[in-house]
Amino acid sequence: MTRKDIPLPQPQMEVLFTPGDIQSAIARLAQEIRQDYRDKNPVLLGVLKGCFVFMSDLVRALDMPLEIEFMSVSSYGPGRTESSGEIRVVQGLRGTIRDRHVLVVEDIVDTGITVDFVLRYLRRRRPASVRVCALFDKAARHRVDVPIDYLGFSIPDRFVVGYGLDFDERFRYLPGLYCLKEDD
Ligand code: 5GP
Ligand code: MG
Repeated sequence: MTRKDIPLPQPQMEVLFTPGDIQSAIARLAQEIRQDYRDKNPVLLGVLKGCFVFMSDLVRALDMPLEIEFMSVSSYGPGRTESSGEIRVVQGLRGTIRDRHVLVVEDIVDTGITVDFVLRYLRRRRPASVRVCALFDKAARHRVDVPIDYLGFSIPDRFVVGYGLDFDERFRYLPGLYCLKEDD
């Protein structure tokens, strides 16, 4: 399916990546991760809610022994398209990660504040290692230095939805990635 054949869920949306684009990127990421974590039984730590679609495709593409954990942090109030900069742990880790190899799975890095916060939270719990895998990154928007060890796509500074990402809890079900058109 090419970009132009994808029906738009809303007229004010543009397709950034098709489901096929996304699956190819995940296959590439899985290959890199599999090489680095062979025999390490890593813990993939998803940051909810946005990661849930990516996480489920990534673990199946990895197809190797691993464990999964989730935590939930929030920084957006309802209806906002920008991080408030104040992060709260909504649901912390249940299991221990001490001496484990942890791979943080993020849907998208924007200012980097969330990933930075999560990395600090995890390091206090003494894992053997922590790395970051993000499907999308808006590098131009970083406000803190964040290491992204495995990256799917670098994207422009636009608000995107689909593939797990929402606007006010809508559009998470879309299989591709869309951006909301800017008013002209
Ligand atoms: P950061 O703390 O890096 O500024 O923002 C990280 C979080 O903000 C992401 O995990 C994601 O939940 C949300 N976010 C950032 N950019 C976008 C975007 O373009 N669309 C959506 N739906 N969420 C975003
Ligand atoms: Mg997120």
